[in-house]
Amino acid sequence: MAEGGHYDIVILGGGSGGYACALRAAEFGKRVALIEKDKVGGTCLHRGCIPTKALLHAAEVADTSKESEKFGVRTSFEGIDMPSVLSYQQGVVERLWKGLQGTIAGRKIDTIIGDGRLASPTSVTVNGATYSGDHVVLATGSVPRSLPGLNLDGNRIISSDDALTLDRVPASAIILGGGVIGVEFASVWRSFGAEVTIVEMAPQLLPLEEEASAKVLQRVFRRRGIGFELGTPFQSVNYTDTGVQVTLGNGKQLEAELLLVAVGRGPVSAGLGYEENGVGITRGFVEVDPLCRTAVPTISAVGDLVSIQGIAHPQLAHVGFGEGILVAERLGGLDVRPIDYDGVPRITYSDPEVASVGITSAQATARGINVVEVNYPLGGNGKSVILQTQGQAKVIAEAPSTPGGQPGRVLGVHLVGSRVGELIAEAQLIYNWDAEPDDVAALIHPHPTQSEIIGEAHLALAGKPLHFHA
Ligand SMILES: Cc1cc2nc3c(=O)[nH]c(=O)nc-3n(C[C@H](O)[C@H](O)[C@H](O)COP(=O)(O)OP(=O)(O)OC[C@H]3O[C@@H](n4cnc5c(N)ncnc54)[C@H](O)[C@@H]3O)c2cc1C
Repeated sequence: MAEGGHYDIVILGGGSGGYACALRAAEFGKRVALIEKDKVGGTCLHRGCIPTKALLHAAEVADTSKESEKFGVRTSFEGIDMPSVLSYQQGVVERLWKGLQGTIAGRKIDTIIGDGRLASPTSVTVNGATYSGDHVVLATGSVPRSLPGLNLDGNRIISSDDALTLDRVPASAIILGGGVIGVEFASVWRSFGAEVTIVEMAPQLLPLEEEASAKVLQRVFRRRGIGFELGTPFQSVNYTDTGVQVTLGNGKQLEAELLLVAVGRGPVSAGLGYEENGVGITRGFVEVDPLCRTAVPTISAVGDLVSIQGIAHPQLAHVGFGEGILVAERLGGLDVRPIDYDGVPRITYSDPEVASVGITSAQATARGINVVEVNYPLGGNGKSVILQTQGQAKVIAEAPSTPGGQPGRVLGVHLVGSRVGELIAEAQLIYNWDAEPDDVAALIHPHPTQSEIIGEAHLALAGKPLHFHA
């Protein structure tokens, strides 16, 4: 381990944002110190994206074995062996962690394990040693948040960190928060056999997603036996002999074995010397401009930690990657452009999956943009019928500028159904390359695939529907 020293770039936090910045900076020949108090890979690899998706895959296997008779295949489902599920999940994490450590070491980046603190605009102290740099990048990420007066005890009132290591399937669970994390855990636990109720203050699950997508998700969740209380604030929670009793703002009471609090994630910035060194902070988030620059010329910040004025900054691993790369390229002398955050794809990996890129109908209205839209149901798609999945593709484009003309650029693609997360990469190209429905309609999609829903929706918008019943 290095014992202090001078580097071109010192990065505080080795999660998605920090390590992506380190990897890209090393490609410019920069000497980089990456300071991490726990494990490189951060939340995404150890407590977020990867372990949750492993659980969701196990859930899919459980559902497939329970429903196999539908396909004429006889199997018997005997139950969930949670310690074995966790060991599969940990195996995936360990393998990726080992690979990441190798990649970081291979780029000659010095990883320093220890609790770091910003000591000056150009240095970080760790375990009494000082690491100075021409530039410092803050990437200390986020941790689960709770509500005032709601204490996480790690046992009956838990966070997503606790839920990921739970060695049993709860008989019943109340999930506070119907955002991505809450919806994904609801999906996993229901597939594993739990009774689940989600409590969400907004009028729909996944409040940031297109209303039409949320409606489909809610319909399928209802059919799967997942309960939800929408438009209802949480009021209080009490312990019972066997679990918890939650009281909602409308007076309704719910009981379950445990309460998962999934109301969002707060920034890790307190006590780290940020404000003392001139970094602007809003509600704990580090303020940056669209090129991830803080108010201090030698300090940048990336990932879950940051807020950008006027932008709903998404807390996503690939946003961290993108911002880490942007900062490394800016420091490497490249001419970088701000990220279009509307163009970042978003996926909720529940069953069914919800995936989107671009803006929603409500955002188009709020921004005063005239649009045309099409909803293509998965029921018209051969591969989706084979998979027995339901859902839809909604595409939003600028309204034609002349009567009877072609729509303008595609502004939003919103998908719901099994496996649609993999389709959003094509939608991302459509959105980010300013394609118009007519451009996409000319592309032949392979049959029978779910990708045809993208082709069909654009054919319909371009005025030449194929298998589409309006
Ligand atoms: C349950 C769950 C599921 C998720 N699923 C997805 C998903 O499917 N797709 C997706 O894109 N995103 C997902 N996310 C979000 C994703 O994990 C985060 O957006 C991403 O990890 C943010 O990266 P980051 O580098 O900003 O922060 P983090 O990953 O939080 O990394 C920050 C790092 O800094 C370190 N650190 C903090 N303070 C110090 C200090 N003082 N000294 C040294 N080191 C320090 C921490 O130990 C940590 O390793 C999920 C999150 C959760 C919780």
